[in-house]
Amino acid sequence: TLVEELKALDKKHFIHPTSSISQQQEKGPNMIIAEGKGIYLTDITGKKMIDGMSSLWNVNIGHGREELAEVAKEQMTKLAFNSCFSSFSNEPAIRLAAKLAQIAPGDLNAVFFTSGGSESNDTAIKMSRHYWLLKGQPNRQKIISRSKSYHGVAMGATSATGLKPFRDFTNSPSPDFYYVDGFSVEALRAKIEQEGPETIAAFITEPVQGAGGVNIAPENYFKEVRAICDEYGILMIADEVITGFGRTGKLFGMNHYEVAPDIMCFAKGVTSGYAQLGGVMFSDALHQAFIDLSQGTLLHGYTYSGHAMACSIALKNIEIIERENLVENSKAMGSELLKGLQYLQEKHSIIGDVRALGLMGGIQIVKDQQTKEAFHPPLSPKLVSEAEKRGLIIRAVTFDQDTLVLSPPLIIKKEEMNKMIDILDETFTVIEAEIN
Ligand code: PLP
Repeated sequence: TLVEELKALDKKHFIHPTSSISQQQEKGPNMIIAEGKGIYLTDITGKKMIDGMSSLWNVNIGHGREELAEVAKEQMTKLAFNSCFSSFSNEPAIRLAAKLAQIAPGDLNAVFFTSGGSESNDTAIKMSRHYWLLKGQPNRQKIISRSKSYHGVAMGATSATGLKPFRDFTNSPSPDFYYVDGFSVEALRAKIEQEGPETIAAFITEPVQGAGGVNIAPENYFKEVRAICDEYGILMIADEVITGFGRTGKLFGMNHYEVAPDIMCFAKGVTSGYAQLGGVMFSDALHQAFIDLSQGTLLHGYTYSGHAMACSIALKNIEIIERENLVENSKAMGSELLKGLQYLQEKHSIIGDVRALGLMGGIQIVKDQQTKEAFHPPLSPKLVSEAEKRGLIIRAVTFDQDTLVLSPPLIIKKEEMNKMIDILDETFTVIEAEIN
């Protein structure tokens, strides 16, 4: 059959990103997706599932939007791609840059385009180091990130650099609000003091940690982080790769905290996955410093920086987010999600904690709600496959923890949210019966 043929070819030739390579060798792909429509994905056997993760937190406007196919066709026919190196440009990239400047927090008014989140973070890190070189402070090369943070995998060029300071990464303690009570920014201050403020280029942070298990900072956290960065003259980088473009119920995650970073990385939701695009936005002050202080060429650029077709898709995607009030829907459905999760927590003893900000949700799995004792091995992968059997795609986060994460498309309706919660309810009931 077709399924058997594709499975065999996949096993033999396709190295999957972020996968258990040995398991993949043994079993082959679990689902070969053939179609997407709205919040649903259908595999080649005809099985229809709710895409409770918006695939990888990114398909914000849902699958199968013909408007985007039309824009892609139109732009591809006219001009799919041209180099934007040096003085070349194109209208979709220019219009998208202007649109992003209009909607981004603070005075983040200039953008450098990439093809995704990892490249955006690579760029932000390199450019912040470059900034300090230009400012005559070459010792400021270290980047502080938070433990449990995920910023992607493309640190290749930078990590491969032989000079040790260019590879120096250091973590501030984890903002784990479940196991560590009262996380405060004082830990960040202590880290800066320990490393030496004059050696630090930037602090990079996700507004809400995604792959770390949907960890939501308390209300004043980022204001205090901003104040500490200012006090020590450290650049603040917000990685809005997941949180951007409505995911959290505001256009950008930092909007919840009324804080503007110096540098902001985005990707995923900028095109809702319809094209590969990311970027980095810089404050006016930084942009001006690059202009004033750069004596030579900015030796950083991707072939696909400012890709015409990708930019035209992003423009249409943002237009749809605005036209259909998807940020408001994310907020409204986000409170339904949180209510649903709280209902599940009351009912099921293996749920230790639930959290959500907009349509980014997490369910912490524990053996014992009182002692917070965890399962070994983690139970969440089992819950994921049980939910899958019932037509719901979610993800397990098991690095150092046991959490289910959810991130449905921003177009989700109340009945569909209820359906998701019902499937989760059944899933927990079945697994609890199994382990008791
Ligand atoms: N930053 C964050 C917060 C992410 O969640 C991700 C991917 O999940 C990335 C960066 C990396 O983005 P990409 O996979 O597009 O390179």
